[in-house]
Amino acid sequence: MTIHFPFDNTYARLPKRFFARIAPTSVTAPRLIRLNRDLALRLRLDPDRLSCPEGLELLCGNRVPNAAEPIAMAYAGHQFVPQLGDGRAILLGEVVDRDGIRRDIQLKGSGPTPFSRRGDGRAAVGPVLREYLVSEAMAALGLPTTRALAAVLTGETVLREMMLPGAVLTRVASSHVRVGTFQFFAVRQDVEGLRLLADYVIGRHYPQAAESDNPYRALLDQVIAAQADLIARWLHIGFIHGVMNTDNMSIAGETIDYGPCAFMDAYDPATVFSSIDQHGRYAYCNQPRIGLWNLTRLAEALLPLLFEDEEKAVAEANEALGAYSGKFEAAYHAGLRRKLGLLTKREEDPTLAGDLLRAMAENQADFTLTFRRLSDAAAGPEADEAVRNLFINPLAYDAWAARWRERLSHEPQDGASRQAAMRAVNPAYIPRNHRVEAVIQAAVERDDFAPFEELLMVLSQPYEDQPAFAHYAEPPEPHERVHRTFC
Ligand code: AMP
Ligand code: MG
Ligand code: MG
Repeated sequence: MTIHFPFDNTYARLPKRFFARIAPTSVTAPRLIRLNRDLALRLRLDPDRLSCPEGLELLCGNRVPNAAEPIAMAYAGHQFVPQLGDGRAILLGEVVDRDGIRRDIQLKGSGPTPFSRRGDGRAAVGPVLREYLVSEAMAALGLPTTRALAAVLTGETVLREMMLPGAVLTRVASSHVRVGTFQFFAVRQDVEGLRLLADYVIGRHYPQAAESDNPYRALLDQVIAAQADLIARWLHIGFIHGVMNTDNMSIAGETIDYGPCAFMDAYDPATVFSSIDQHGRYAYCNQPRIGLWNLTRLAEALLPLLFEDEEKAVAEANEALGAYSGKFEAAYHAGLRRKLGLLTKREEDPTLAGDLLRAMAENQADFTLTFRRLSDAAAGPEADEAVRNLFINPLAYDAWAARWRERLSHEPQDGASRQAAMRAVNPAYIPRNHRVEAVIQAAVERDDFAPFEELLMVLSQPYEDQPAFAHYAEPPEPHERVHRTFC
């Protein structure tokens, strides 16, 4: 009996220089940590079979499923141009899910590839658990993201800052094409490869662009719009990606590559977690700017396709990039209005929102809890106490809340529906760093995955109150605070 993966591969049909054919490396003693059964069903895979020993053999890379065409994708990235590529990830193939959307199924941590440089091709259990938790939390929060289908222990150790248990994550994405994939062909002045890639991406992700007079310009416009929207949504939930290099920016507009990523606790726009981000390049508040920087690299790569005449191509690229800030601002402010319970739009709304954020920063108010509790305060001032207590100086909240209430008095909604609408956009539960670290510690030190299971379950319903797990909504105590994350 063999497990059937309904593979329908397209990327592996592209020319050889797009990838390297490579099978996963076997591991000695695989053990399933978790299979995402709901996601398996959506992918038209049989979760019962996948969690059998035979399924485990596939998820750890010991066997390759029938009709898989394992490849490591070639790409570049800004610090590593011209050659990067999947150094520890192997794309098994693509399936069309129940919604008719094509999805990549990729093993991450499954052994070296021709793109591994000096890396071992492996992943430690900690980063695998973090990616599983955070990507699934992002999906439950409603953000575009890659997903986690499974996590397995390899039974082998990997050497990082110390010897750690090894693991493999099965990642699902609407594709793994990145901005860096375009750079790969651009730096080689391989215009034919660039055109094939652009046509592939249009066909797979942006089919409307094909109808345009200039499909490549339409592609650029749509990628810019998708990224502007995505980054605005990161800011709305306090997410910090941590390594926003061009190789970690998905062309489809999904959040991808959960390395040293983290969510903020107390609101501080300068927050940085990544141990490798010493200059704050990828700080929370810098993400919109870095997004534009990355998209500018995409536009540069696309120049030869935009127009034969270089000057005209540059003009097209600049025009497309010029739209980014407006799109980002519009998405960002629309989201902030939703977070504040505003259905209508007024000129002064960005100032109102900005003043709350400033007061939160000055008073170290917890980002997630402030908005969650504000949702209840939207029903009436009885709930104000719980919000104001989050501010070092509660008077800062009072002063702002008076203005907010005045603004709400011009809104058509009643308090109860406003509260419900706000609770649907202001989560109670995010993968707080100290919780994620505690999960990783239990796994590494005690081989205990119960905390992982529990946190994962809580995060699957981020907008619901879960009284038995209310402690997961709380910010860290001072001694629990995590200041640095590692990938
Ligand atoms: P990242 O910072 O996760 O985007 O990784 C940058 C590049 O390094 C990508 O090409 C990865 O595939 C590669 N890489 C990261 N970790 C490893 C590893 N342990 N072995 C081989 N390649 C790796
Ligand atoms: Mg990467
Ligand atoms: Mg990574």
